[in-house]
Amino acid sequence: MRFVEVADRVFVLRYPILDVNSTLIVGDGEAMLVDTLATGRQATDLGEAARAITSFPWVLVNTHHHFDHCFGNAALADSARPVWAHEEANRLLLATGEAQRAAWAARWAATDPVHAADLATVEIRGASDTFAQELPLDLGGRLIHLKHLGRGHTAGDIVVQVPDAGVVIAGDLVEESAAPDYGDDSYPLHWPETVAALLRLDPLTTVVPGHGAPVDAAFVKAQHEVLTTVEWTLRDAYGDGLPAEDAARAVLDKTSLGLTPDAALTAARRAYADLSGTA
Ligand SMILES: [Zn+2]
Repeated sequence: MRFVEVADRVFVLRYPILDVNSTLIVGDGEAMLVDTLATGRQATDLGEAARAITSFPWVLVNTHHHFDHCFGNAALADSARPVWAHEEANRLLLATGEAQRAAWAARWAATDPVHAADLATVEIRGASDTFAQELPLDLGGRLIHLKHLGRGHTAGDIVVQVPDAGVVIAGDLVEESAAPDYGDDSYPLHWPETVAALLRLDPLTTVVPGHGAPVDAAFVKAQHEVLTTVEWTLRDAYGDGLPAEDAARAVLDKTSLGLTPDAALTAARRAYADLSGTA
């Protein structure tokens, strides 16, 4: 397991469990690790792989509050350097971390008892510093932007832009090896607009998705179209007074996203909650 350079001093490690990406950006004398995986053991693997690339101290960034992107914070944090996240992502991590732990420990208990045990003992550590909209950072002479472009996969998604390399790290706003993950904390009606804002970032040569292989702008454009189809199918169904179950079926009929019936129903319920003002 190792980091692969996808652009100038930007390295991605594709972790086999859940196929989740962690990205290492190296500046002059300083580095940044974006997303820290799910357990202490996974984070230790990640730290060793990063140390094969650079000896520089690192700041940590979490793209959002889901366990596979930030439960490794405690194992990897440098006490002298910040752990950054969006303020809402940090609030959600502290509010839902234990529930996420319980849900995934139960899910892994049968198939992967080692990781289930690791998850049971992991120290859930939030960000040391948060921001609301946009944060420029000087990473050893390299300008990096952390940006909250709006709601989508969650309320607190951020992207990490590395302009000098044309790279945007998208977290789960973009997925390559699975369908976009419409969970019960997602915003199906806002997601397309947020990805449209991502597509306006310039330059945009390489997009690192939350899961799967790095992609180009054309891939993200295609995913944006599907997200938009989901949004409008749900808006139309709500406008026609259809129950959420019928809206979910319409989504599955209209898109080739590979969404499961469960995910489509979750998306429909989230959209309906949003449209009725209860999200
Ligand atoms: Zn996620």
